[in-house]
Amino acid sequence: MDKRNILDCDLESLIEVVCSYGEKKFRAGQIFGWLAKGTESFDKMGNVPKALREKLEENWYIGLPEVVVAQKSAEDGTQKVLFQFRDGARVESVFMKYHYGNSICISSQVGCRMGCAFCASTKKGLDRSLTGGEMLAQVLAMEKFTGEKIGHVVVMGIGEPFDNYENLSAFIRLINNPKGFGLGMRNITVSTCGLVPYITRFGKDFSQVNLAVSLHAPNGEIRQRTMPVARRYGYEELMDACRRYTEDTGRRITFEYAMIRGVNDSMENGLELAGHLEGWLTHVNLIPLNPVEGTGMNASYRDSILRFKEILEKKGITVTIRRTLGSDIDGACGQLRLR
Ligand code: SAH
Repeated sequence: MDKRNILDCDLESLIEVVCSYGEKKFRAGQIFGWLAKGTESFDKMGNVPKALREKLEENWYIGLPEVVVAQKSAEDGTQKVLFQFRDGARVESVFMKYHYGNSICISSQVGCRMGCAFCASTKKGLDRSLTGGEMLAQVLAMEKFTGEKIGHVVVMGIGEPFDNYENLSAFIRLINNPKGFGLGMRNITVSTCGLVPYITRFGKDFSQVNLAVSLHAPNGEIRQRTMPVARRYGYEELMDACRRYTEDTGRRITFEYAMIRGVNDSMENGLELAGHLEGWLTHVNLIPLNPVEGTGMNASYRDSILRFKEILEKKGITVTIRRTLGSDIDGACGQLRLR
């Protein structure tokens, strides 16, 4: 039988595993703790009996990915890493330093099938989804690689997390477990292109986790030009789901809005967007588009971005302009893998 990735095991299944080997339950907790520290081999689990370590070695592997390439920004310490899993699948993760602590942006799939016109990650379609353990493994491997502790995780790398909902859920439970990595729910953010049914479900399943929605347009017509998902779920339907999410959870949604020159960045576009968002708990994050070769799309001019921000703010909406972290290292996610 092929070995399986032990990082996919939650504590309950590890208990079953050790019991099936005739060992005491508490051994599972020890192993779970070692794994959350990024331990890369079973023989390093000092307090675990040798016989059990050997049994684990026979049946399981610890699925930490290898570093294929890494880029470090000289400007701000941002580090982007191309990781490779055992089967050769490659994804990107980005380590960022913020005033509130260190953060990692992880991938949820190998490629993506959402087809957004401006995005590098979707150019070659979807190879496969990542497991919960493989999402966790990016965090553990990044801590090792950088030698830094990570306190925030955003699922905003390659892939659409809600197109891989079960594994995403498994990941959140795994990393949140206080006996393991113990990351607080509020320190996790998930970003979706707008798979409406899952927005509602996510609000029920994980009401403490932050949600970001990639909106990128002030209406359905413009949204459809760049995001195929907008044909599946209409603009009003998406807005309704977001409003209900906010009412149900009491949590603010962050709307990501990539500023694309001449597509969605006029004053009229700003006013229309403000009309939708006025009066409810939201946050808009304006992202100057990171131009991807072959898309024919460019970033908005600085002036248009500032004007757009002002229009929203006049209507009482909180707006930030994304700090372009690591702009000297091929910013947009998915570009390293594509190359
Ligand atoms: N599939 C999820 C998460 C991954 S994409 C989602 O769509 O939210 C992470 C964010 O980067 C999304 O807001 C996405 O629209 C945005 N993005 C993708 N390509 C970009 C580019 N070239 N420039 C700026 N933002 C981009």
